[in-house]
Amino acid sequence: VDAVSPRGPRPVRAPRGTALTAKGWPQEAALRMLMNNLDPEVAEHPDDLVVYGGTGRAARSWDAFDALVRSLRDLEGDETLLVQSGKPVGIFRTHEWAPRVLIANSNLVPQWGTWDEFRRLEAEGLTMYGQMTAGSWIYIGTQGILQGTYETFAAVAAKRFGGTLAGTITLTAGLGGMGGAQPLAVTMNGGVAICVECDPSRIDRRVAHRYCDVRVDDLDEALRLAEEAKAARRPLSIGVLGNAADLVPELLRRGAPIDVVTDQTSAHDPLAYLPRGVAFEDLDAERAKDPAGFVRRARESMAAHVEAMVGFQDAGAEVFDYGNSIRGEAQLAGYGRAFAFPGFVPAYIRPLFCEGRGPFRWAALSGDPKDIARTDRAVLELFPDNEPLARWIRMAGERVHYQGLPARICWLGYGERDRAGEVFNDLVARGEVAAPIVIGRDHLDAGSVASPYRETEDMADGSDAIADWPLLNALLNTSSGATWVSIHHGGGVGIGRSIHAGQVCVADGTPLAAQKLARVLTNDPGTGVMRHVDAGYDRAAEVAAERGVRIPMADT
Ligand code: NAD
Repeated sequence: VDAVSPRGPRPVRAPRGTALTAKGWPQEAALRMLMNNLDPEVAEHPDDLVVYGGTGRAARSWDAFDALVRSLRDLEGDETLLVQSGKPVGIFRTHEWAPRVLIANSNLVPQWGTWDEFRRLEAEGLTMYGQMTAGSWIYIGTQGILQGTYETFAAVAAKRFGGTLAGTITLTAGLGGMGGAQPLAVTMNGGVAICVECDPSRIDRRVAHRYCDVRVDDLDEALRLAEEAKAARRPLSIGVLGNAADLVPELLRRGAPIDVVTDQTSAHDPLAYLPRGVAFEDLDAERAKDPAGFVRRARESMAAHVEAMVGFQDAGAEVFDYGNSIRGEAQLAGYGRAFAFPGFVPAYIRPLFCEGRGPFRWAALSGDPKDIARTDRAVLELFPDNEPLARWIRMAGERVHYQGLPARICWLGYGERDRAGEVFNDLVARGEVAAPIVIGRDHLDAGSVASPYRETEDMADGSDAIADWPLLNALLNTSSGATWVSIHHGGGVGIGRSIHAGQVCVADGTPLAAQKLARVLTNDPGTGVMRHVDAGYDRAAEVAAERGVRIPMADT
C-alpha cells in the first residue's frame, strides 16, 4: 500500500503488535480497523471491497483505499480526515478532542433516496453502499450476528421463562447466513432448538462449524430427541431436513410441546422460499420455469407456515417475526391473522433500548487473543450479577472463532459501557494488554437509528420515521471525543428505509482517552434513553430519573 502508483485488488491484513505505522494510536486504530474490515478472513468479497450485507463496502475503490491509508498515516493528532462514501475528500485542522475521522456514507436527499438512483450514482463512481459497520470500519465477522440472536433469545427467556430457555423447545426454520446463528443462540441460553431447513448442505455446514449439534432427517426422531433434552433441561440443537411449510403445521397438528416459535427462512424474497410440494433439488428449475407461479405458491406456503405459527401462539407459545417479512407475505396470500404475532424489536428489544442497552464491541489492536481473554475477565468481574452476559462471555470465549483482529461483542446499557471503557483503558495503561483496544458498536442500536421496518418499528408515539435522532447522536459523539463518527443511509433494510450513525473510540491508556471514553460511552447510550423518553416509554423515563439522564421537558 506504500506504492506510489495505484494498485488493484490484493489481500489486506491489519498490522499487529505495538509498532505504530501512523502518527498516533487513534489514527493507527482507524487504519487497522479499515484494513481489518477488508481482511479476507473478515470480508465476504474482499477483492470488491465488500465486507458484508449485500454490497456493504469499506472503501469506494482500491485507489480510494490507498488514499485513505496514506491520509491516515500522515494525519496529525489535531487534524480530521473527512470521508465521503468511502473516499477521502479533505483534511482539516481541528483539535485533539475532535474525531480523527468523520464519515458520511450513502446519504441522498430524501426524494432521490431510491435504489435506482443510488445504483446509478454508484455506477458513476460517485457513492458507495456503507451498510452499517462496513463503511464505518468496525465489522467483526459473524460474532456480531450470533450475539444479537443470543440477546434476542435471552430477552425471550427473561420475558417468559424466568431468564433461561432451559426446559423449553424453540421451533424455527432457516439455517442460512444469519439464521444459522439460531441453534447456537438457543443452546447458549440453555434451550432446545428444532430448526427446519430444506437445504441439507446448510444443515451440514452449521454442524461442521459447531453452530448446530445434530442433523436429523426424520421428524419423529427430531421430536423424540427434543423432548428428551427438554425433560432433562439439557441444551440441544437439532437441524431437521424438510420444508417449514409442511413441518411447522405438522408439529402443531401433533400437539408438540413447543414453547417458542420464530422463523428465519428467506421469506423477504418470495423467489427464495421453497413452496410446499417442490423438491429442494428442483427449486432452481421451478423458479426459472414460471417465476410468477413460483411466487404465488411460495406465498401460499408462507400463509400455511404463518397460520401454524399463529396456531402455536393460540396454544400458548411465545411467537415472533424475526425481521424476514413472513407476516407481510402471508398476508399478501390472503391469510387474515398474519399480524397476530409481533416483530422482534417491539416484542423484546425495545425494553432494552429504553435502558440504553445495545451492542458494545471491541477489538484488540495487538492481534493477540490473550488481550480479548483479559478483557473478557474484566467484563465478568465488572458485572458479576448479570448471568446472561456472563454466560455469553464464557461461551463466546470457548466457541467463537475469531476472524481478523480478535474481537468481542456484548450488550451493555447506560451506566455500564463507560465503566467497561474505563477498565479497558486502565488495562492498556497498566500493560495488562499488549496494545490499545478499540471500542465501538453496530447500528442495531437504541439512539442512533431511524429505521421504521426494524429498530423504530411501531414506536409508541408513531415517530418511526423521524431521523433527527441519529443525526443528534452523531453530533453529540463528535462533541464528546469519539475517535471516528459516521452518518449512514440505507443500512440493514436498504436505501430509502433508514438513517443511522456510528461511533468508535480508542482506549490507548492515556488520561485523555479516559476522559473521552467516559463522555462518549455515557452520552452515546444516553441518546437511546433520551429517544425513548421522548417517545413516551415509561421504562426509559424511569432509567433517566434513576441514572441521571437529563431530559428537559420530562423534568418535573
Ligand atoms: P439465507 O438466504 O442465507 O437463508 C435462508 C434459508 O432458508 C436458506 O438456507 C434456505 O434453504 C431456507 N429456506 C427457504 N425456504 C425454506 C422452507 N420453505 N423451509 C425450510 N427452509 C427454507 O438468509 P439469512 O441471511 O439467513 O436471513 C434469513 C432471513 O432472516 C432474511 O429474510 C433476513 O432478512 C432475516 N433476518 C433479519 C434479521 C433482523 O431483522 N435483525 C436478522 C437476521 C435475519
